[in-house]
Amino acid sequence: KMAEAVKVIVRCRPLNQREIKLNCNVCLEMVEERGFCCIRKPGSQADQAPKQFTFDGAYYTSSTTEQIYNDIAYPLVEGVVEGYNGTVFAYGQTGCGKFSMQGVDDPVTQRGIIPRAFQHIFESISVAENTKYLVHASYLEIYNEEVRDLLSKQIKDKLELKEHPDRGVYVKDLLKQPVSNVAECEQIMAFGWKNRSVGATLMNADSSRSHSIFTIYLEACDTGIDGGDHIRAGKLNLVDLAGSERQSKTGSTGERLKEATKINLSLSALGNVISALVDGKSKHIPYRDSKLTRLLQDSLGGNTKTLMVACLSPADNNYDETLSTLRYANRAKNIKNKPHINEDPKDALLREYQEEIKKLRGLLVGQLGPDGIKALLEGQSPVPKPKQESETSEKKSSTGDQDSDKMKKV
Ligand code: ADP
Ligand code: MG
Repeated sequence: KMAEAVKVIVRCRPLNQREIKLNCNVCLEMVEERGFCCIRKPGSQADQAPKQFTFDGAYYTSSTTEQIYNDIAYPLVEGVVEGYNGTVFAYGQTGCGKFSMQGVDDPVTQRGIIPRAFQHIFESISVAENTKYLVHASYLEIYNEEVRDLLSKQIKDKLELKEHPDRGVYVKDLLKQPVSNVAECEQIMAFGWKNRSVGATLMNADSSRSHSIFTIYLEACDTGIDGGDHIRAGKLNLVDLAGSERQSKTGSTGERLKEATKINLSLSALGNVISALVDGKSKHIPYRDSKLTRLLQDSLGGNTKTLMVACLSPADNNYDETLSTLRYANRAKNIKNKPHINEDPKDALLREYQEEIKKLRGLLVGQLGPDGIKALLEGQSPVPKPKQESETSEKKSSTGDQDSDKMKKV
């Protein structure tokens, strides 16, 4: 199991109408090819050296979700089809680009990561031979440290978190809808999205203060060369976080402060978990401090491939928020995960052998050429050659037999 760092990209939206009207200046610049980003302090301290950062990707004002998906989300979702867990977080100040997750239909280049993942997954599994897939989806929201099922008709019901010795933390009674095509996924996403705003109205809440997690569960069953069924299970979490700006609004006092703290508990806990993970000294990682960090524990220092999309405003009047997002994102880069394919350990061994055989076969093809292999499989000597040579090829095939013996014992 190889350690793998959390991937972090930054995305900067264009100036919006309000900022243009206010004559805001742009204080954020990027060199996309190098994943480079720098921010200059506005006003009297504009001559200070700009603060510089480098990420796994930097996407400036004219970038599209399509680009981001193809560059960096695609391989992560590909991993989920293979049986890895994957998580994509959208982080940042309200109004700065977390629409990267849900997306819009027009222009089509800004279709979100969630619907793109649906399409990708169903395309991948439709071409897979000898493998059967089962796909489920769930959609939940965390508001004020309460978990709600966005796919339920009883949107106001609070759900409980439970812990299972093998499966880890899960949400009790969360609906997992079976889905068999892209259209069904889109229906579910639309239903949950609508529920999110209905819920927000009912509870006098603000949806930018809630976190939502859309999860796609993928189970693949293939028949191994031993004739048995082998199950791999990948899970993709698509997380739209609450606006990060509230976190720094510590000016409020009394009841308002208490409310703000509670609303932000999950977000500040996320920050604390990230800090603890990267500081290297802390033995204790405070996952249990919030619902969000408990649910996503595996995405932070665990068995998951994780991508964070940090969304930024270029306007100088957002300088403080933008710098704080950049620092947050910069810290997250240092989190190490240990993703592995979710399968029975026996099956993992079998897969290793299969891969080994594939590699050996590749080597043989390289040496004998496709015609030679065909001849070998048909029981002929691959190339008419002197006696000594054909002994070698016999030896090769006996090695192959040993391999399949091993296989049967598994
Ligand atoms: P939030 O981060 O709170 O979810 P949004 O991402 O929905 O906010 O941003 C508000 C609006 O700003 C979007 O609906 C979109 O019109 C525009 N916008 C945000 N980011 C970008 C971007 N990178 N490129 C183009 N438009 C953007
Ligand atoms: Mg949003």
